[in-house]
Amino acid sequence: MTVDKTRKKTIKQKIPRVPMLEQDPDKRNKNFSEVTLGYTENDALREASRCLQCRNPKCIEGCPAEIDIKSFIKLIQERKFDKALEKIRECNSLPAVCGRVCPQEDQCEKECILGIKDEPVAIGRLERYAADRELERIASGAKECAWSEVTKKCTREKVAVIGSGPAGLTCGADLARLGYQVTIFEALHDPGGVLVYGIPEFRLPKKIVKNEVDYLKGMGVKFELNMVMGKILTVDDLFKQGFEAVFVSTGAGLPYFMDIPGENLNGVYSANEYLTRSNLMKAYRFPESDTPIIRGTRVAVIGGGNVAVDSARTAKRLGAEHVYLIYRRSEEEMPARDEEIKHAREEGVEFKLLASPVEIIGKNGWVDKIRCIKMKLGEPDESGRRRPLSVKGSEFNIKVEVVIMAIGQGPNPVLLSTIPHLELNKRGNIKADPETGKTNIKGIFAGGDIVTGAATVIQAIGAGKKAAAAIDEYIRTGTW
Ligand SMILES: Cc1cc2nc3c(=O)[nH]c(=O)nc-3n(C[C@H](O)[C@H](O)[C@H](O)COP(=O)(O)OP(=O)(O)OC[C@H]3O[C@@H](n4cnc5c(N)ncnc54)[C@H](O)[C@@H]3O)c2cc1C
Ligand code: SF4
Repeated sequence: MTVDKTRKKTIKQKIPRVPMLEQDPDKRNKNFSEVTLGYTENDALREASRCLQCRNPKCIEGCPAEIDIKSFIKLIQERKFDKALEKIRECNSLPAVCGRVCPQEDQCEKECILGIKDEPVAIGRLERYAADRELERIASGAKECAWSEVTKKCTREKVAVIGSGPAGLTCGADLARLGYQVTIFEALHDPGGVLVYGIPEFRLPKKIVKNEVDYLKGMGVKFELNMVMGKILTVDDLFKQGFEAVFVSTGAGLPYFMDIPGENLNGVYSANEYLTRSNLMKAYRFPESDTPIIRGTRVAVIGGGNVAVDSARTAKRLGAEHVYLIYRRSEEEMPARDEEIKHAREEGVEFKLLASPVEIIGKNGWVDKIRCIKMKLGEPDESGRRRPLSVKGSEFNIKVEVVIMAIGQGPNPVLLSTIPHLELNKRGNIKADPETGKTNIKGIFAGGDIVTGAATVIQAIGAGKKAAAAIDEYIRTGTW
């Protein structure tokens, strides 16, 4: 028996991780179509067959949404693809999104037991396969879909969700599943939050987000768009309208700047504005779309996270010959996903590491150059990463026409300033219980980036789930 088990493991370990097809770098850096092309059925079955079905699987512990990974992979092994998707949806309403953008290498796949001696199971790719299979079925006109079973009439109390990013969508979906009448209020004209205005089409096609939103609509969730809450309606107004609870999930949409000379020159963008113009407003199609964007042949992007890498890859696709990604630490400390860094390099983004801007130099009101200083790494700071220190006298200029600042985002105060006595932390984020999303004000819950600061999609999903359960308990029992 023991011998058999060992043999089984050895055989599985010998199957190499199944790669995913991608568009050729020289082609894809000129178009906005999705870079990765997904698994075929054979690929998925082969990859799923690598899973050891561990007695104590560590992968689940690594998933902030606690998806039953072992079980959904088993269902794929058994070719029960719909059941696999249902299993994922028990914990995650956005599987096609997470299968594409979650940093699995730092979460479930990092904990995967197969990964101790071999490459971990490609959990994210399998999740994406299960979700995409259904998308294809819907596109080909299938009437039945995995969620038709969960669709039911929403007749219970009214709950308001403010913000339609992953936290708000998840909270809304879970509450609708419990029968609540959910209305999601969104400031923009399209629901999805960062999934539609931030993450580019070539990483996350917008039809995927639309499908997830349609899933919620199918469950009875209402969307009120173009509603800048705090300006049009306050939280008090919502309570007066009969909403029993409010979930605030307004994200971290306020861009930070470096506070260096030249930031007000023409040609300087925040990554938020740059990506919103390109993604949500489709500026890459200008003049067919209404929104223009300054393209530039030489573009500098400042920062080292996903937002910076997305901006750099977008600039390349908008036709820039040189795109410089300027980051003050080394590649090892870059917070962007490894896959995105690899893709950006392949697409021709030029990395200027251990460098930090000190001034943007203009000519006739427009950006002409960016002046940087070289950096070296000192001792680790509070974040655990080595502190960047400037090297005296090492300044240098780079000729550019566009500068994109991607150094971080904070909470937008528009809504928060209209909720007196709501407790915030020193960074302006809402203080909320991490297990329930409860704030210091009865009936108001919060979750996602508005609480944690800029984080990840799956963390926002986790917060939305916990808040939905707590809202249900609060409305049922009346206890706070
Ligand atoms: C460019 C970019 C790339 C990223 N890439 C990744 C990635 O690859 N993987 C990953 O895991 N994470 C990534 N992230 C982070 C991730 O997208 C966020 O952590 C996540 O979207 C946070 O979800 P949320 O629901 O809290 O807020 P958001 O997605 O920010 O949604 C908040 C919503 O609230 C709305 N809103 C704000 N104020 C109001 C108001 N007053 N009234 C009504 N509505 C309002 C906003 O318009 C928005 O739609 C990326 C972020 C960015 C910006
Ligand atoms: S830890 Fe890895 S091998 Fe084990 S059940 Fe999870 S995915 Fe499969």
